Amino acid sequence: MIEVEDLVYEYPTARALKGVSLKVADQTITALVGPNGAGKTTLLRCLAALEDPYSGKVVIDGMDTTHSPREIHARMGYLPDFYGLYDDLTVRRCLTYAARSHSITAGATPKAVAKAAQRVGLSDRIDSKAGELSRGLRQRLAIGQAIVHEPKLLLLDEPAAGLDPQARRDLSALLIALRDGGMTLVVSSHILAELEDYCTEMIIIENGLIAGGKAIKVRDDDRPRYMVALAAPRADLKDFLVAHGADVSEADENHAVIVFTRNQTARAKLVRDLVMAGFEVASFGESSKALEQTYFAQVGHKA
Ligand code: ATP
Repeated sequence: MIEVEDLVYEYPTARALKGVSLKVADQTITALVGPNGAGKTTLLRCLAALEDPYSGKVVIDGMDTTHSPREIHARMGYLPDFYGLYDDLTVRRCLTYAARSHSITAGATPKAVAKAAQRVGLSDRIDSKAGELSRGLRQRLAIGQAIVHEPKLLLLDEPAAGLDPQARRDLSALLIALRDGGMTLVVSSHILAELEDYCTEMIIIENGLIAGGKAIKVRDDDRPRYMVALAAPRADLKDFLVAHGADVSEADENHAVIVFTRNQTARAKLVRDLVMAGFEVASFGESSKALEQTYFAQVGHKA
């Protein structure tokens, strides 16, 4: 769905992206994370065909953003980090406005509006004014506006910012539902714990570059992330795990974060093999902290 090759982007006073290359597969949810000022918003704007690269190229669904921005906009939804809603318009009017802006015909608009409202869980508030909605519901409305034309790709810049825990959980469920409905999503966020619930890949941007040079596998449905911790350091931990079929996200002599099958027999065998090979395994378990651990290892501030 997305192919980025050696993307460089410059503002008049700063080079924000310094050679970013990445690929995003169809029907995945990719998280874009990184410190403030790392370049996430700039990258999303380049993916959204809103900025032209200084050099390098961005291809969305087979089309170059420089040559075919309008065609790309027709297939894409974009929620910026700061967005405005027309507070005096009802949910229905907001979605109608978005639908018509995306060239949906007047005849087809009511159906598209009803579908978008239903997908973001706002059917029962369809006649409420945007200004009367809570922050979580406003976020849903903004996402509804971004998907009313049923895009193949949805880019969301910090959609979870400022939401309460329940609203963030609802947002995670919504993103998974959109992915299951066939969409590809790229989501920038600082909230790592939630990303673990719904992302398939994580791309860490630091200082205009992808830390580690490539995306990190977060999870897939049958292969969660596990943390392996040793009581005594072993320099060959990473090599051993790779040789035994684990995808190693991050490792040092004392621990490793791996993506490995949920199959219990295979997991028991891996632990047995480690112990038989003399590794002093202190713990082996599915870890909700694994993503945070990986992030801090990559950006250089130890957790
Ligand atoms: P945050 O997490 O704080 O939203 P970010 O990762 O999205 O940050 P960007 O907003 O893409 O980072 O900024 C990347 C770099 O480009 C920063 O150094 C920023 O100061 C600079 N930058 C962003 N917008 C502009 C602009 N309009 N003019 C000049 N420099 C800019």
